[in-house]
Amino acid sequence: MTVINSILNFIFPPRCIFCGKLLGVKADISICPGCYVNIPFINRPIPFYGFLDGIICVCEYSGIIKDAIIRYKFYNKSSYFRTFARLMSQRIKTETAGQKFDLIISVPLYKKKKAKRGYNQSYLISKFLSRELGIPEASYCLSRIRDTASQSLLSKDKRQANVYGAFRVNHARLVAGRNIILVDDVLTTGSTLNECCRALKDAGAEKVLGAVIASGRKF
Ligand SMILES: [Zn+2]
Repeated sequence: MTVINSILNFIFPPRCIFCGKLLGVKADISICPGCYVNIPFINRPIPFYGFLDGIICVCEYSGIIKDAIIRYKFYNKSSYFRTFARLMSQRIKTETAGQKFDLIISVPLYKKKKAKRGYNQSYLISKFLSRELGIPEASYCLSRIRDTASQSLLSKDKRQANVYGAFRVNHARLVAGRNIILVDDVLTTGSTLNECCRALKDAGAEKVLGAVIASGRKF
C-alpha cells in the first residue's frame, strides 16, 4: 500500500461495499469477513464457445454481488472498482500463472452512454488491473462505433445481431500478435465479449482472454 493510500485510509476509512461496516485502515479489499463468505464464488473453469480463448469469472451474478454491481453501474458507486479489480486480479494471477499477457483492454461504452453515466465501469477496473498485474492498459485501441440497445432486454439471438459490427479496432498494429485480457463487468450470453474479441482477432490479436466479475449464465 502506498503512503498516499495509507493517508487516505486514515481520513476516509474503508467500508465494506456490501454492508457498509467500517474496516481496518490497512484493508486492501473493501469487503468484511462476514460478507466475504456470502460471495457466490465460481471455483471451476467455465465453458466458453466463441472467438475467446478462455474466460475468467470471479463469481455468479446473484445475491450481494448482483446488488453491488447494480450500485456500481447505475447508482454512482464508481469507487467499487478497486474491490472488484482486486477480486479479479487475484483470480487472473492464479488461473494464468506462467502465461504472458501484453495488453489489458476494456469493453467500450458508446460515447453517449459514457457521458450519461460519467464513467465506464469496465475501464475503471481495467486501469486498476493494469497496475495490479503490471500489464499495459490499452482500451483506446477499441471503440464502440454505434449505439446498441441494452443487451439485458434481448433474447440470445437478438443479442448477437445487436452487437454485430459494433466495435472497431483503432490501432491494429498495436494489437497484432498480442495476447490480450479483455475486461467486462458481467457475462450473460457472452455476445458482447465475443464481438469485441472478433474485432481484435480480425486486427491480428494472437490470444484474447475474457475477464469478468460475475456471470449470469447457468452452467
Ligand atoms: Zn460487509
